[in-house]
Amino acid sequence: MNEIGLKITALKAEIPENVTLVAVSKTKPHAAISDAYEVGQRVFGENKVQELVDKFEQLPKDIEWHLIGHLQTNKVKYIAPFVALIHAVDSLKLLVEINQQAKKNNRVIDCLLQLRIAQEETKFGLTFEDAEQILQAHEFVEMKNVRIVGLMGMASFVNDNAQISDEFRTLNNYYQHVKNRFFNNNKDFTILSMGMSGDYKIAIEEGSNMIRVGSSLFGNR
Ligand SMILES: *Cc1c(COP(=O)(O)O)cnc(C)c1O
Repeated sequence: MNEIGLKITALKAEIPENVTLVAVSKTKPHAAISDAYEVGQRVFGENKVQELVDKFEQLPKDIEWHLIGHLQTNKVKYIAPFVALIHAVDSLKLLVEINQQAKKNNRVIDCLLQLRIAQEETKFGLTFEDAEQILQAHEFVEMKNVRIVGLMGMASFVNDNAQISDEFRTLNNYYQHVKNRFFNNNKDFTILSMGMSGDYKIAIEEGSNMIRVGSSLFGNR
């Protein structure tokens, strides 16, 4: 088996069955993705729209492509025909555009709201108040072509495991709150996307069911 395949297989054996592995292949060549594909990996994450489109066009069609990074409104149209999950929705304006483009493509696009949980300064992600405003907005409630299926967050890039745990726990608590308050009886709200190469173990301990792992599988970028 190839080296990437071995790493994917080992990681899958290590994580609980309910945790989905998103193999983050950004900046990596198609050959690296094919190595992962060969051992059965089908879920891949990219953070650049153009790169995602190129890889979608050239790689097997049964790959489930996730856009994990910040998405600009004017680029939604390029990924709307095929994207399986958008992880980093951080405004109502973006959701409006996703809804429109999904409608044009006769699709319902699954999305996660990205919450800002890191104590360090970060540009992206919603505060809890922002998120609730979106979820209550008339405009959102009327949308037929987007489905919010969960939440996503990134912990601070620190060595302090207790701090990372706290941040993930905060997001999990908020996820439970949103699920109860806004998605009562809705079985579609099920995804808590948290954890990367450096912190996925902590994230899983704190309730993550979707990890986004790149460098520890494909090597440093
Ligand atoms: C790059 C990236 C990852 C993967 O990071 P690694 O440390 O390489 O595992 C996960 N999530 C997001 C949003 C990213 O941009």
